[in-house]
Amino acid sequence: MVHRTRVIILGRQGAGKGTQCARLAARLAVPHVSTGDLFRAEAAEGTELGRQAAAYFDAGSLVPDELVLDLVVQRLDADDARAAGYLLDGFPRTLAQGQALFEVLGDWAADVAVELDVPTSVVLPRLAARRVCQDCGATSRAAPGAAEVATCERCGGTVTRRTDDTDEAIHRRLATYDQESGPLLSWFDDKGLLVRVDGVGDPDDVHHRLLDAVRSRIPDIGEV
Ligand code: AMP
Repeated sequence: MVHRTRVIILGRQGAGKGTQCARLAARLAVPHVSTGDLFRAEAAEGTELGRQAAAYFDAGSLVPDELVLDLVVQRLDADDARAAGYLLDGFPRTLAQGQALFEVLGDWAADVAVELDVPTSVVLPRLAARRVCQDCGATSRAAPGAAEVATCERCGGTVTRRTDDTDEAIHRRLATYDQESGPLLSWFDDKGLLVRVDGVGDPDDVHHRLLDAVRSRIPDIGEV
């Protein structure tokens, strides 16, 4: 039996969305569609879109809607997403993006929208300490006062901050989330799609809370 499971995960940067979404998508057997990852891939490949998005991305500003929408709609039109569904991470970020998604895909664009709730006071130090290996992509957390550049424990590559994890860009991204998420969350709530999940705590516990939230709206999820 083919399951089409359409899940949207919302939450502040640094809430652990990337890790949790990857795990949840594997569990639900749906592709993990992260707009941030799609832009990073475009930038790494040196495409025109990657070039256009880079300035916004590095400053911690939202990339203009028209660039994001095409990218998302194209990705959701791929065979794997058509067959299984998807877990959207990092999209929609604004009410206009949410409305555009439902306009393009219809009322079945999402079965559930889960807000992974982690307060700013928790995510700020996490983002400042976040490091990523430029070679293997592994993420790690730097100890307080650690050097900005280090060696990857996994592959020996160079570990640095993400280009959009400068203090200024972090503050801009969190301010944008606070500004844009309110109307978007209310809109999902009005549609009866919103479930809030406490994102603070042990990652295994958070994973199970997320799974329960999805199950509350899709009782027969196609888990693997
Ligand atoms: P993320 O990895 O989700 O934190 O995304 C990194 C950056 O990608 C963001 O700061 C934006 O510049 C861009 N981006 C990702 N998703 C979106 C979106 N839905 N709308 C606009 N810009 C986005």
